[in-house]
Amino acid sequence: MTKLAERTKGIKPSVTLAIAAKAGKLRSEGIDVVNFSAGEPDFDTPEHIKAAAVEALRKGMTKYTDVKGIEPLREAITQKYQREHGLVYRKDDVLVSCGAKHSLYNIFQAVIGPGDEVVIPAPYWVSYSDMALLAGGVPKLISTNEATGFRMKLEQFEVALTPRTRVVVLNSPCNPTGASYHRDELLAIARVLEEHDCLIVSDDIYEKIIYDNSQVHNLVALNPSLRERTVIINGVSKTYAMTGWRIGYAIGPADVISAAAKIQSQSTSNATSIAQAAALEAIRGSQDEVPIMVREFQKRRDVIVDRLNAVEGIRCLKPQGAFYVFPNIAPLLSKTGNGKKLGSPCDVADYLLEEAKVAVVPGEDFGSQQHIRFSYATSLEDIEKGCKRIHAAVKKLN
Ligand code: PMP
Ligand code: GLU
Repeated sequence: MTKLAERTKGIKPSVTLAIAAKAGKLRSEGIDVVNFSAGEPDFDTPEHIKAAAVEALRKGMTKYTDVKGIEPLREAITQKYQREHGLVYRKDDVLVSCGAKHSLYNIFQAVIGPGDEVVIPAPYWVSYSDMALLAGGVPKLISTNEATGFRMKLEQFEVALTPRTRVVVLNSPCNPTGASYHRDELLAIARVLEEHDCLIVSDDIYEKIIYDNSQVHNLVALNPSLRERTVIINGVSKTYAMTGWRIGYAIGPADVISAAAKIQSQSTSNATSIAQAAALEAIRGSQDEVPIMVREFQKRRDVIVDRLNAVEGIRCLKPQGAFYVFPNIAPLLSKTGNGKKLGSPCDVADYLLEEAKVAVVPGEDFGSQQHIRFSYATSLEDIEKGCKRIHAAVKKLN
């Protein structure tokens, strides 16, 4: 057996990707699984974006690019922030990477050292804590629940920050809860951050997926004094249904961006050239399809929340953004299904896959022992079918 590096031992594989793969395998074996696992829009990438990639390929854009990304793309990203939030960044403040996940990885590697604390409000997206661990950091979780709509209380935040805090991660709208901070809440969070010398990583990947006319606020636009300590993470995966293209970016203080670019230059070099051309069209071109997709997500959210709340033992808040629901399944944890006691969200997810052929992600790796996650970036038909099956499977528990 090869002796593996210590750093591989403290982390887990991504549970979202693992369950999506498991559901995909069952489907390929002919089993009709309803898949609520990976957070991936079921829409196709809009045609004009695909056409831009084809055009780039035809023109021979098949070589290495600048490590940080092609200039027009970085320029388009800075213009987006100027247009939407009045923020002025330079091209050199942007690093384009292979997905927002890679952007986060590069930034964590650039700023977190052994023993540094990384404050993460929970429930949180599965990869933050493992990425912090990979960099030698210590995740410090702030737990939240339904009582506050899965938003942290200011007192909790104040207590979590210590002189050892190196990074604070904010993610609004949030994966997995869909929670989104209101303007005054974010202003109050910003005021607390003013007093602490740490880097803020604001993962804004779901900024456009927001419902009921609510608004997503940009931390730096709300409090410009945090600009030199805030890295914004964003990408094209969710807004433009481009998960497979793998383009994300970080935008922030030049010293942090340069350090992250140095890491990228020694690992992946540039993100794929033609995918960058597609991302340029996504960000600079027509935005017409975005609200159409968001309206569709909102319809699905309304249906899934309604159907899940009709199941005894499942309680589901209606989220304001992203495309996940994170229902509480605590009452099911004392029950038995197919002769097995359901002791954890993982057991419930296993039971639902086995009995109902429905794939969901258990809450443990999001930091919860009482919830399971559904992605509703899937058809209304599948939502109806999946919820009916869950209803029947839950009725069989005793
Ligand atoms: N942040 C959050 C909160 C996410 O849910 C995701 C989904 N994968 C990412 C970052 C990374 O997105 P991607 O790498 O596809 O750009
Ligand atoms: N972010 C998505 C999810 O949470 C995609 C999978 C992943 O990258 O974790 O399901």
